[in-house]
Amino acid sequence: MKQNLIAEEKVFEELKKAVVETLRTEGNAITRDSSLIKDLGAESLDFLDINYRLEQAFGIKMARHFILEHIEEMFGEGSAIDENGQLTEKAVALLKMRYGDTYGDLAGGVDVDDVPSMITAGSMTEGVLEILDSLPEKCAHCGGSSWKTDDGTHIVCGACNEPAIFTSGDDLITSWLSSVQEEKKIF
Ligand SMILES: [Zn+2]
Repeated sequence: MKQNLIAEEKVFEELKKAVVETLRTEGNAITRDSSLIKDLGAESLDFLDINYRLEQAFGIKMARHFILEHIEEMFGEGSAIDENGQLTEKAVALLKMRYGDTYGDLAGGVDVDDVPSMITAGSMTEGVLEILDSLPEKCAHCGGSSWKTDDGTHIVCGACNEPAIFTSGDDLITSWLSSVQEEKKIF
């Protein structure tokens, strides 16, 4: 369910903190439009570090695999990336459907290696918020249905204080892909 305990602004602040600690960069240079790779100099391995810091900060599990990998796994080799290493039309359509703001300008024939540079501080913030919005109606431990946060980043049960259990980033992607497939929007 959509949670309202942690605001977008707070998530962005934590994202900036994670980026600053990982890349040793200046926090005030980071805007929502900053590309982590192009503007902030992140490399692939840095994403593991940034994701880990966000996981610790919010008690969540970020996606380990990018959506393109999930598409290939669910719909077969070549379904997302063709033999020339370019995004398929299906992959472009799915990226736009799911992450419109980030990939709105994407067209066919994009090299898969160019995709990670489109990841921005804003799109990572959205990714965290989506996971936080998988907050269950009821606490898995005691069945209580009131949530609270004492530190502003970890949501815990208002009755038993156990941490909320969120859906993982990977599971959110695969269940979204399954729903698209069921509705036959693309495949
Ligand atoms: Zn509880």
